[in-house]
Amino acid sequence: MKRKATQAIRTQTERSKFGEHASPIYMTSSYVFENAEHMRAMFAGEEDGNVYSRYSNPTVDEFIDKICLLENAEAGWATASGMAAVFTTFAALLDAGDEVLSSRSVFGSTHKLFTQIFPKWNIHTNYVSVNDFDEWEEAITPNTKILYLETPSNPALDIVDLEKAGELAKKHDLIYVVDNCFTTPIIQNPIDFGADLVIHSATKYIDGQGRGLGGAMAGKQELIDEIEAFARHSGPCLSPFNAWMLSKSLETLELRMERHSSSALEIAKRLQEHPSAEWVKYPFLETHPGYETAQKQMTMGGGIVTFGIKGGLDAGRNFLDALEMLSLTANLGDSRTIATHPASTTHSKLSEEERQKVGITQGLIRLSIGLEDVEDIWEDIEQALG
Ligand SMILES: *Cc1c(COP(=O)(O)O)cnc(C)c1O
Repeated sequence: MKRKATQAIRTQTERSKFGEHASPIYMTSSYVFENAEHMRAMFAGEEDGNVYSRYSNPTVDEFIDKICLLENAEAGWATASGMAAVFTTFAALLDAGDEVLSSRSVFGSTHKLFTQIFPKWNIHTNYVSVNDFDEWEEAITPNTKILYLETPSNPALDIVDLEKAGELAKKHDLIYVVDNCFTTPIIQNPIDFGADLVIHSATKYIDGQGRGLGGAMAGKQELIDEIEAFARHSGPCLSPFNAWMLSKSLETLELRMERHSSSALEIAKRLQEHPSAEWVKYPFLETHPGYETAQKQMTMGGGIVTFGIKGGLDAGRNFLDALEMLSLTANLGDSRTIATHPASTTHSKLSEEERQKVGITQGLIRLSIGLEDVEDIWEDIEQALG
């Protein structure tokens, strides 16, 4: 089997009679049948092939094939956004009365699904603290069906031990699902540590250039079959155009993750020396409480750095206002470096206590380190801190 970087580049839909080198975009809603018998057989599921692009599409399949190869997964499915992947996974696999056991540090919209949407269908979530596995085990009930986590988490950058969570899931026969958005399959493969399913927001690093949305799930064939049966009729499918863009982006993912990670480590080290930073968090800094675990399960530190600015809320806002090059925007994983201040924006509706619980202090700044020259990134941060 070829190595990751090669697979991401050399996996391709079957070449057409035109001999194209790059993959074409199959912008088609449906597919023609040879005759009435072929049409009957396709509808009956007796023959493999494409019927309608809500079910499958060659360009989307190319993207899914690459994700499966990169994640060491048996099967996959692609969606219009990361949240469509998260929602579809839970909606397909859970029944009324089922429960989710989830690490407390999860993406904001996932938190909304758990606390406001799924309870409408009598699906409830028990939150547990990062890495307190005794607490996790105590929170498991006979109705718990899925164990869910993100690592590193957004924005607290907490590291959850994938192997230990996997052992717990196995012991209690839970479906083990990991949101692998922050690391991408280049840095971390949760399936190697026991995960049954991996979810991606392809909007972030996989696109990597802030152009469009997409999502994917990959893992055990039997679970993907259930997801597919649900998704074919509920319609969260990825558009062929976005699939083409995302598949092309995968060709440069390894190269980009290396650069994101090396620049992020450099910025984290320099921030540690800076008098305006109260603390700095980055998975590959030895001062990170999850450093040992990160070394075990990640090949690089990734592109996200957080730090606490001295002076809290006001200092955080002033820092953002003083930036000249870094972007203030609601994305991450872009080629352009982005700064955000969760306490005054994405997490402003939470109470101070709720924010503390998920590790968001008043002065927390999240940096998504881009692909610009690291010296230019640092110059802007340094002048804004000044
Ligand atoms: C952005 C994000 C999502 C949601 O993805 P969208 O493509 O924006 O729908 C899910 N999980 C994590 C960790 C994210 O950062």
